[in-house]
Amino acid sequence: MALIELKDVSKLYGFGDATSVALEEVNLNIEQGECVAVMGPSGSGKSTLMNVLGLLDHPTHGEYDLNGRRANHLYSAQRARIRRDKIGFIFQSFNLLPRLTSLENVALPLLYKGASLRKRTMRARDMLERVGLHDKSYFYPNQLSGGQTQCVAIARALVNDPEIIIADEPTGNLDSESSRLVMELLSEIHHGGNTVIFVTHNPELTRYATRVVYMKDGLVVHDEHKSLGVVAQYARKVLYGEPLSDEEEDIAGVSTLMKAHEHEHATRHVAAATKRRKSAKRKPAAKPKPAKTRKKATTSRRKANDGVS
Ligand code: ADP
Ligand code: MG
Repeated sequence: MALIELKDVSKLYGFGDATSVALEEVNLNIEQGECVAVMGPSGSGKSTLMNVLGLLDHPTHGEYDLNGRRANHLYSAQRARIRRDKIGFIFQSFNLLPRLTSLENVALPLLYKGASLRKRTMRARDMLERVGLHDKSYFYPNQLSGGQTQCVAIARALVNDPEIIIADEPTGNLDSESSRLVMELLSEIHHGGNTVIFVTHNPELTRYATRVVYMKDGLVVHDEHKSLGVVAQYARKVLYGEPLSDEEEDIAGVSTLMKAHEHEHATRHVAAATKRRKSAKRKPAAKPKPAKTRKKATTSRRKANDGVS
């Protein structure tokens, strides 16, 4: 029995002519201990999937079993309890309360659970220590860098010791160094035996995943199991400028949204290597250069999608 089992799960918004299909008959099983990256163009249904998995949203059709229990028929109080005890959320926009210190933000889920002040404070301190921010306990969110803020949000997500961590573009607002830090933390949580599901536009970050699920138009279009430490195959084809078939190109739309600052170096390096490889193969230098064309297309598509997801 898988930890998460989605059977023909659809999510529709609106009705009549204005219906939009955010998820279309998604079948997805996730085992305990997997680290799943979800990729896909903006609007492909990634956040909707995260919200359904995290019991923040109901599927319109289909069944969702969590830990062998039918989750889409639960009362809202039961759903809230499962969410509180079993699931930790991390969002792109951090979602910390601005008027609370780091310590208070991290301790908040324990307050909802009825823990004593002493217990809340001790546990929150431990969590901040775990993410390397114990010296920022009394800082407010606006006194922290983006990376530090996300680490506080991770500490908050972990404070109830959840089995599942759901992170919707956790590095979407971070520079490459902070992204790495945040992903190392998520990876550590994964290595501790937890199930981690994260959305990313950045192919490099698929290194941390044991599996990559690619979405498009509300469908899961590709599901790739992989080893830790390597970039996922579809993602790599775009990153390293290898030719894609038409079908792959379609799916790999997911990978063209990667953040410029995170890949400037890698793309430059790879484009140069591809160019060298190609010119070694090809004698006349007059033909168009695919690596450059791809990089341009990538950049313009990325620009077009910036800030939309
Ligand atoms: P992603 O996270 O991949 O960018 P989303 O899951 O946010 O995609 O959205 C998937 C589709 O569902 C999009 O077409 C979006 O416009 C639509 N959608 C998402 N949330 C709502 C909502 N609350 N009301 C109406 N449509 C929505
Ligand atoms: Mg989204």
